[in-house]
Amino acid sequence: SVGSAENIQKVIKIAGDKNDKVALVVSAMGGVTNLLIQASELALDNDLSYLDILKEIEDRHQQAISALLQDDLKESGQQHLKNTLEELSNVLQGVSLLNDLSAKSAARIVSAGEILSSFMITLAMQQKGLNAVLKDCRGLINTDSNYSNASVNYAKTYDEINAYFASNDSDIVVLPGFISANDQEETTTLGRGGSDFTAALIANAVDADLLEIWTDVSGMYTANPKLVRQARPIDVISYQEAMELSHFGAKVLYPPTVQPALDKNI
Ligand code: ASP
Ligand code: MG
Repeated sequence: SVGSAENIQKVIKIAGDKNDKVALVVSAMGGVTNLLIQASELALDNDLSYLDILKEIEDRHQQAISALLQDDLKESGQQHLKNTLEELSNVLQGVSLLNDLSAKSAARIVSAGEILSSFMITLAMQQKGLNAVLKDCRGLINTDSNYSNASVNYAKTYDEINAYFASNDSDIVVLPGFISANDQEETTTLGRGGSDFTAALIANAVDADLLEIWTDVSGMYTANPKLVRQARPIDVISYQEAMELSHFGAKVLYPPTVQPALDKNI
């Protein structure tokens, strides 16, 4: 849902129109995670075209910043983009020089997509006059050190999330999905598609009335709507069935997302 400035405006409208507190978990801009993975592989191969990919990522965010932000907020967005890309470029250079792409470095690299999108979207909300703050999930979601597909320490994570939301009184909290941290405060990630899971962890911890997942397909379908024309949306589905469907390839939902609800026996 956050592939372009136009879509981000829709997200802001949806979140801003709620008459309740909102935790808005955002993914990277569409395609950016794949670009980051591609850049890391090129750097490992000593292929300098990883710099072109960085440029592409920069351009996409720069375009969105120009469309969404003005004055001080625009400057702040541009500064953040510059700093994040500089850091990213240093890590990629390290990968290239050492000829080594560890899972730890890979997690650092792919996390940039959500770090960029969440910062920019928070500013865009503030630009619209909304009372929105950014909270980095690396301070909330605690995992083991399986960097690219980390397992969550639920007890610690729920405590952190509850403590944060208990003392926060903003209308909207924007959070980067997918990214987390281990005990050493190193960046880990929850696996591809993990933003849904981030949202479920937060919804469960704060006992949210509702968790909505907005993506490029409007619901769970009886078959893959990109392949089967007669596929129809399923109105109601149990958590168990949703879990099965996602395990069998329904990309609309990341399988671990329903785990917190199953654990609670909802
Ligand atoms: N950006 C991450 C990915 O592409 C996480 C997500 O989108 O849910 O896998
Ligand atoms: Mg997704």
